[in-house]
Amino acid sequence: MSSIETVDIAVIGAGLGGAAAMALLDHAGFSVHTFEQAPEFHRIGAGIHIGPNVMKIFREIGLEERLATIGSHPDFWFSRDGNTGEYLSKIRLGDFAKKEYGAPYITIHRGDMHAVQIEALPQDRVHFGHKLTAIDEREDDVLLSFDNGRRVAAKLVIGADGINSAIREMLLGVEKPRFSGWVGHRALVNVEKLRASGLEFEACVKWWWEASRHIMAYDTKGDGSEYYYVTGVPVDGWEHDTAFVDSSREEMEAIFGNSHPVVNALIDATEEVTKWPFWSRDPLNLWSRGRLCLLGDACHPMRPHMAQGACMAIEDAAVLTRCLTECGTENYGEAFQLYEQTRLERATRVQTISNANTWLKEPEDPAWVYAYDPLTAPLG
Ligand code: FAD
Repeated sequence: MSSIETVDIAVIGAGLGGAAAMALLDHAGFSVHTFEQAPEFHRIGAGIHIGPNVMKIFREIGLEERLATIGSHPDFWFSRDGNTGEYLSKIRLGDFAKKEYGAPYITIHRGDMHAVQIEALPQDRVHFGHKLTAIDEREDDVLLSFDNGRRVAAKLVIGADGINSAIREMLLGVEKPRFSGWVGHRALVNVEKLRASGLEFEACVKWWWEASRHIMAYDTKGDGSEYYYVTGVPVDGWEHDTAFVDSSREEMEAIFGNSHPVVNALIDATEEVTKWPFWSRDPLNLWSRGRLCLLGDACHPMRPHMAQGACMAIEDAAVLTRCLTECGTENYGEAFQLYEQTRLERATRVQTISNANTWLKEPEDPAWVYAYDPLTAPLG
């Protein structure tokens, strides 16, 4: 049996939330290691919105400028009727967001953002190819065992290991997430074909049909060289045991064909498209126990329709870091409680609205989401 190494804080998972947690904890002076099951990350075709609420956090860890340079800065989030093109809402972003909310609103390829996050971490403390397989809560630490035989004793363990979290399972027992009844198709479309259509493709627009079916389309690069969409479509069930399956332009035509000319052109420019199930859980009544604590999708997974799931994971990381700084790692119980008290209401509210898929469909003030500053908001 391998010898046991010791670390202060172990973050399980180097996804968007785990990478942020490691950066923030490291930045605050904690000794932290991250263990990620994947041997490496790939640039899988998908985009992401990052609100000003989270760009403030990236500012804190020195990544705001790089992300802002790569990403697109839409002036508006438009909501439009998928058949007639009528504008249902025009939510101001761009310079307005910078001024009113304190940071830019960007849309970006999630692989590009994740790569920036990972590159900025102390590489000798990010451990790829480490799948957590066993957790033993002991008197003075937690013994973590990985599938490669390595064993690590950590004073504190942060479960940033996503919707099928092993740490959540340890706290609350085995329970598969619930299929939400919705899938999303994701595609990076052929931009040359879009241009050839002579139509205008707005930098950030959500097209809506009856029963909340939709296509959210946006730029993932500031230079306009990439255009992406993700759909939301209700279905009867999900029988596959893979994270996603291939879809096709024909399937997109069957669902969204004969719509507004811009939508038709978008579908026409679709070459490769994949289909993803959306999973969810009810809000958890336990975010931590002893030396174990959850963040992000491990804790509050949601359908992605508010474009705030990763943002909530990264906000969690910022608040958790503040709580550990304020209370000290030796008072971890107090810190974890303060963290949950600070995060529960906001994360649950976002989770509920995101699952309901109503966000910005009609004119509304998004300031409570975007103007929030996780670095200065009152704790508790
Ligand atoms: P994850 O990103 O899932 O990371 C978990 C990590 O843990 C993974 O790297 C995984 O390999 C690792 N892991 C799991 N188990 C183990 C183990 N046993 N041992 C070691 N490592 C492990 N959010 C936004 O903010 N804006 C958007 O625009 C947006 N759009 C979205 C569109 C779609 C179609 C979807 C599906 C989601 C979208 N989201 C968006 C939500 C966002 O992707 C998630 O909320 C976010 O990825 C959660 O981050 P996380 O770090 O908690 O989990």
